[in-house]
Amino acid sequence: MNMITNHLPTAELQALDAAHHMHPFTDANGLATKGARIITRGKGVWLTDSEGNQIIDGMAGLWCVNIGYGRKSLAEVAARQMEELAYYNTFFQTTHVPAIALAAKIAELAPGDLNHVFFAGSGSEANDTNIRLVRRYWQVKGQPDKRVIIARKNGYHGSTMGGGSLGGMSPIHAHGGMIDGIVHVDQPYWWGEGADMTEDAFGLERAKQLEDKILELGVENVAAFIGEPIQGAGGVIVPPATYWPEIQRICDKYGILLIADEVITGFGRTGNWFGSETFGIRPHIMTIAKGLSSGYQPIGGSIVCDDVAAVVAEGGEFFHGYTYSGHPVAAAVALENLRVIQEEGIIDHVRNVAHPYLKERWDALTDHPLVGEAKLVGLMGSIALTPDKAKRAKFASESGTVGFKTRERCFANNLIMRHVGDRMIISPPLVITTAEIDVLIERAKKSLDESYAILKAEGLMVAKAD
Ligand SMILES: *Cc1c(COP(=O)(O)O)cnc(C)c1O
Repeated sequence: MNMITNHLPTAELQALDAAHHMHPFTDANGLATKGARIITRGKGVWLTDSEGNQIIDGMAGLWCVNIGYGRKSLAEVAARQMEELAYYNTFFQTTHVPAIALAAKIAELAPGDLNHVFFAGSGSEANDTNIRLVRRYWQVKGQPDKRVIIARKNGYHGSTMGGGSLGGMSPIHAHGGMIDGIVHVDQPYWWGEGADMTEDAFGLERAKQLEDKILELGVENVAAFIGEPIQGAGGVIVPPATYWPEIQRICDKYGILLIADEVITGFGRTGNWFGSETFGIRPHIMTIAKGLSSGYQPIGGSIVCDDVAAVVAEGGEFFHGYTYSGHPVAAAVALENLRVIQEEGIIDHVRNVAHPYLKERWDALTDHPLVGEAKLVGLMGSIALTPDKAKRAKFASESGTVGFKTRERCFANNLIMRHVGDRMIISPPLVITTAEIDVLIERAKKSLDESYAILKAEGLMVAKAD
């Protein structure tokens, strides 16, 4: 099938792109030499590139296109809203119908007393809001010293200065530094860091680092803890079952605010509306974005519990907001996206059809000589590549060398599967059918076979010495 529509030849587009377009998280030198892949269309779980290739999108864009590409009703809602009221702000005692309706809908879907929504344009902005919100909360309560936020190494919370500082990724910190008052504890990554411990014991040990850190800093200085229910960009790290209950216990014990960054895990990804439900977490604040609009419009936000909203309100005006907070077109499109998820029973599809079908096949990838553990929660999965699975060994080559080579094979086979270090990760649209899962698995296996052959030929199937 050739779906190329009217545009310049690929090489010309690539040259213009390399000359004028600065890309996020991309080595610009590679753009000039290799050229970027140009995506032209999307339908369901399928993408078409400028050469007419049909690619299965195992990542739902960047973990966001939960309802799949090419939905007409979202386009229609956007067009109608632009005609009706293309823009108005929500500052200074003003509001509009799309923002009201979306906030009320999110409050209805969110668990517990998470009843208030502060809108942002993205997940990063929402986490910047959260930094200010939790510090403001303690100020109003007369404890202004409580301002340190504890986060995790290898967590991801966005790439604004605030979001990047909450995240625990040293390459991001290295480019421009960090804001103050944020500290990191170790991640609950058993396969990579658990040594001889059982998963359960390791989960408790990593959670206990939060308690140790609170005591070290003094509880009178700690505002909040933030974590993703499952680390996404860090490599789809699923914590041991003991981890979140212990984190919850510690936050309760010391009365610090708990922020669940649900930017990926929200809106059905884990088989529930929110990852906090999947893991039994009771956060004071949830960060949302991505699946909120399935990526059809840029929108994010913070869902805030009754207590935090009331205390911040008690303090009078909150000096914070974005021009596009609750943007009417984005809000209307997000609302339509939530209607689609709900009325089409997409979360039931994840739980009852797609997850069980994929899980059996995903777990079976551990039969492959290159694959150690396989993890899948809902439709968020990862496999660890290893030269020696019995020892959970890392490769002797620099981390990411093998993952990158494997990702290149996936691209060549028209499968989008990302690598984080030497883990391969997937997060397909939630509407993926069993037949499409078959295609995804078939292409993944072919790519693993090809990568394995290359690694053997290049002498890379070598374990790092302990
Ligand atoms: C993507 C992501 C963010 C940042 O969202 P942007 O919309 O890219 O700013 C924050 N937190 C998590 C967990 C994410 O995956």
